[in-house]
Amino acid sequence: MHKTINQLIKLQSLDKKLKALSDKLGDLPETVKTLEYQIKEKQKENITNSETILANEAETRKNEAKISDITVAMKKYQEQLYLVTTNREYDALTAEIDFSKKEILIAEDEIIKTEENNEELKEKIKANEIGIQKSKDGLENAKKDLDQTIKDTGAEKKELEKERETIVELIPKRYLNNYKRIYNARNGIAVVPVKRNACGGCNSTIIPQKRVEIYKSKTILVCDVCNRFLYSEDAINEEMKGEDK
Ligand SMILES: [Zn+2]
Repeated sequence: MHKTINQLIKLQSLDKKLKALSDKLGDLPETVKTLEYQIKEKQKENITNSETILANEAETRKNEAKISDITVAMKKYQEQLYLVTTNREYDALTAEIDFSKKEILIAEDEIIKTEENNEELKEKIKANEIGIQKSKDGLENAKKDLDQTIKDTGAEKKELEKERETIVELIPKRYLNNYKRIYNARNGIAVVPVKRNACGGCNSTIIPQKRVEIYKSKTILVCDVCNRFLYSEDAINEEMKGEDK
């Protein structure tokens, strides 16, 4: 096997492992952030709703005071009804009484509405508190996982990075640059074996003459279509057999 191809295969395997490590970590910081945000938003909503409840209660007390004031005034009008001497006075008083009754109805409606509103808000607060607790539990777990993952992967990551540095130094610059370009463009797969007479990356057929050259591994060959580095698994197997002897 060509030295550089071997090194590129190793490099790709290291990059794959490193990516898996960063992927593991990649999710958790986002989860922590999302949960913290959700908790904050729900807490904010609860504060706003609690303030609305207090305002509603104050409004209800105002309406209750209004009702009792109007009731007192209305009683006076009703007592005065017995004392009137003219129709005009009588009509004026009954008009006042009718108006007072309407005012009381309006105030009572408002009390009912604000009470219903408060019930809804209290339900929302309760639901939010349950949600907050759930998010807090989730947050605690995510933080624990994150810390643990950082602890667990830290050593392995360092080791892989060290290995990578060593390999990278061995690979000629132009091949390394090509590798990086293809790795980024082709979803982390830059070196592929020949499979069933075709490129293991894009499945394009490889002519027999080129397959022979790949098998011989004297030069570095790439796929004409996808530009990935090509190698022969048969050649690797042969080599391993050779080492066994
Ligand atoms: Zn290809």
